[in-house]
Amino acid sequence: MKEKTIFVCDICGYDNLKWFGQCPQCKNWNTAKEVRQMKRVKSASDNQRDDDTFEALFAKREEPLIRFMTRFDSFNRVLGGGIVPGSVSLIGGDPGVGKSTLLTQIADRDITVFYWSGEESAEQILLRAQRTNDGSLDRLFVYNTNRLELALEKLSEEMTGSSTKIPSGSHPLLIVDSIQTMRSDEVDALPGGVVQIRECTAALVAYAKQHRLPVFIVAHITKYGQIAGPKLIEHLVDIVLYFDGDADRDLRVLRSIKNRFGPTNEIGVFEMGEKGLQEISDPSERFYDASANDSGNAISVVLEGNTPFVVEVQALAVSTHFSSPRRLSKGVDQERLNLMAAVLSKRLNLPIENHDLYLNLLGGLKCNDPGIEFPIAVAIYSSFFDKTIPPKTAFFGEVGLDGKIRGVSFSEKRITELARLGFRRIYLPKSKANAGVIKKYGDVSFIECTYLKEALTQIFDGRS
Ligand SMILES: [Zn+2]
Repeated sequence: MKEKTIFVCDICGYDNLKWFGQCPQCKNWNTAKEVRQMKRVKSASDNQRDDDTFEALFAKREEPLIRFMTRFDSFNRVLGGGIVPGSVSLIGGDPGVGKSTLLTQIADRDITVFYWSGEESAEQILLRAQRTNDGSLDRLFVYNTNRLELALEKLSEEMTGSSTKIPSGSHPLLIVDSIQTMRSDEVDALPGGVVQIRECTAALVAYAKQHRLPVFIVAHITKYGQIAGPKLIEHLVDIVLYFDGDADRDLRVLRSIKNRFGPTNEIGVFEMGEKGLQEISDPSERFYDASANDSGNAISVVLEGNTPFVVEVQALAVSTHFSSPRRLSKGVDQERLNLMAAVLSKRLNLPIENHDLYLNLLGGLKCNDPGIEFPIAVAIYSSFFDKTIPPKTAFFGEVGLDGKIRGVSFSEKRITELARLGFRRIYLPKSKANAGVIKKYGDVSFIECTYLKEALTQIFDGRS
């Protein structure tokens, strides 16, 4: 049977059965590359063969996913409980955030790491690993390459054959750093483009499944190259991780946004230091500054996966003379900032449209929890009037378009975490469901709020 080919735009990933001169999606000319039609790749959770007949479900349960653990508990947790043989994980993040450091640190007594590097030299990786891996480098093998087929051939010699590199009891693992530097001879396209990235990823996935080898693919996200980046290969892999950080601080957050073998939205928090990345077991205290007392800063508690985090929302409202004010948001969706600005404008008659608004979450956390809306409104209001918020005070709740503060899930977890960290005044949505947990914390004052307008008046009344 003749092998099917398709044409893929090397800039944006648009594909078509027929050749095209101008890409209908991104409008660039001469970007069509001919590639083989991608075959469906079996995932590790698929059965290797079709069953002969129906089987009782409990019989299937005899074969649980066998996982192995890395030295990082939170890394294991983000992966859904350790590494699954044959799984392919994509780890994306800004250049320099520490993706390579994290993956190098996985190598230890029980895990043999094969490291393809198209970026750093073996000497550079060695220098770093000496600093970060406590001297145990005998399970880390580096191969400088950007040629996919050749690298796979060399790897196969170690995976099969009579290699002595993988001692019995040690789990082999492949790191590809980075996918943007790899080149397959199968397609005629430049490394870093959509076509090469797709082709190389598909080949790696097929190899991983065939050899039951876990593979971690490093993918850089740059502002310029974002389109041709990891987004286009997320559907090919089992797990998608993002590694985020704040340049000003040493905190790093690892999160899963797709996981075929476990829950998503789990996060792990690390600190970058002299000896590489260290796990932070109680991260909640790292995302706010209890001593700061500036206007525009409001403290909240959000949920990431099942874990509550106390976070600091920082807002800055600056008057502008431009007709369209700037709205810049870091860590929170820009839409959410726009929405809160609109509610403050309409429901409180705040002349917010004459102001540039900047929003930031301290420590590089990214948050989708609706419970952060009330604190965002508080922070903007605080900055707008340059009034500070009393110390040991925190807020959570969703804000409706009508200016009402609405309940959010897991109130009890949020309250418990705030109380544990010594917060003494909590503004929260009015809800019967909270009565029980409120009773438990007699030394905390709870202010139940219905309308944003009333709440803000109450918070800032008489404050300077
Ligand atoms: Zn295109």
